[in-house]
Amino acid sequence: MLGASGVGLSLSSSISACPATKSSRSTRHSSSVVKMAISVEKKPYTLEKSEEIFNAAKNLLPGGVNSPVRAFKSVGGQPIVFDSVKGSKMWDVDGNEYIDYVGSWGPAIIGHADDKVNAALIETLKKGTSFGAPCLLENVLAEMVIAAVPSVEMVRFVNSGTEACMGALRLARAYTGRQKLLKFEGCYHGHADSFLVKAGSGVATLGLPDSPGVPTAAASETLTAPYNDADAVSRLFQQHPGEVAVVVLEPVVGNAGFITPEPEFLAALRRITEENGALLIFDEVMTGFRLAYGGAQEYFGITPDLTTLGKIIGGGLPVGAYGGRREIMEMVAPAGPVYQAGTLSGNPLAMTAGIHTLRRLQEPGTYEHLEEVTGKLVNGLVAAGRAAGHEVSGGFIRGMFGFFFAEGPIRNFEEAKKSDTAKFGRFHRGMLEEGVYLAPSQFEAGFTSLAHTSQDIEQTLDAAKKVFRRI
Ligand SMILES: *Cc1c(COP(=O)(O)O)cnc(C)c1O
Repeated sequence: MLGASGVGLSLSSSISACPATKSSRSTRHSSSVVKMAISVEKKPYTLEKSEEIFNAAKNLLPGGVNSPVRAFKSVGGQPIVFDSVKGSKMWDVDGNEYIDYVGSWGPAIIGHADDKVNAALIETLKKGTSFGAPCLLENVLAEMVIAAVPSVEMVRFVNSGTEACMGALRLARAYTGRQKLLKFEGCYHGHADSFLVKAGSGVATLGLPDSPGVPTAAASETLTAPYNDADAVSRLFQQHPGEVAVVVLEPVVGNAGFITPEPEFLAALRRITEENGALLIFDEVMTGFRLAYGGAQEYFGITPDLTTLGKIIGGGLPVGAYGGRREIMEMVAPAGPVYQAGTLSGNPLAMTAGIHTLRRLQEPGTYEHLEEVTGKLVNGLVAAGRAAGHEVSGGFIRGMFGFFFAEGPIRNFEEAKKSDTAKFGRFHRGMLEEGVYLAPSQFEAGFTSLAHTSQDIEQTLDAAKKVFRRI
């Protein structure tokens, strides 16, 4: 098993690091040297090496990380430094095993380090890592994305979801000849200037206002409305006639916690944008290939003008994409005048991981499996939380879920913020000790994968029952 054992477990560290409170997973053994050596899996829960590495990182990287939420600021405690991943599991540098519900923030939908994806990557690797020139694999992944996603007739590959959203916004402005962007409070569309207004994800987690460094001019072209409030959108169109280029949203929110659109919301946005000559962008960086093979637009039957993708389509390598109707996409350089480029865009390794991840998702029963395991998990969590006397609400669609320490239903970011984040922090730390890795923020969705089994879910719910009782 990949990295599960033997992460340099020294006798001294396993003896010295026996904390007083212990989980069932880490049975204490006061025994002989021989027994210590063979019972690696049952060692006590410590994070000594994580701590050492993270402390060193703090002098090397701002906040010790390369992306803010990883630093565990909102849940407190020690961020975990990982050594390896496989299937539904992750192993940290101290040798602790976790059932993973972050899935690298979404890409790992078929399970981590899938054998077929890895084998394909090795074959591609033998031919080189980057061409900076056309390659056949770009056509293959493009054909798959175009066939899958209803709104996409042509696609441009980039290297991240942030880039995809930047490109789509520039294109929408060019196409409409207008400047203003309308987004929703708590939605996250990457870290480009125009989107960092009332943004979700790390911006929400850290309670940052609009980020310093964003020019007033950029932010002033961004209008915001509460999620699930189509009337507010209509009003903004009335207040700014002929100025709004585009309405962008997460068709199911994952970056303010998990929030679903009310039945008429997406249809109303489709109608309002059409009536006012604006474009509609679904940011499906998270929901694409996760809620359904064709994303949220297939799931809800509403087709936007442009779609942004990322996460899953890179299968764990850095990929993003934006696509839409041919007449719009043909404005992108060099077919048209809207500039956007990338040294590593269409990279053969990234294309390979995407292609083989999507192939796995095409197999029968995949979305049924996701629906089943996620349903068991979320219904079980909510029931266990309530049984222990907590206010808990939760929801899920296929492989995406969330739960709040607040009474539901949660319909927008204001309501999500009423959640008891201190309690979530205690729950998060408790679950880590029990071997379950959840997103380190109340304002992030969770993810399951094809590798998650009923046994994983049962183990998670057993852990949750214990933790709910003691927080
Ligand atoms: C993750 C995410 C992004 C940003 O993607 P990166 O690859 O992190 O730049 C944009 N939009 C949504 C909805 C996301 O979930």
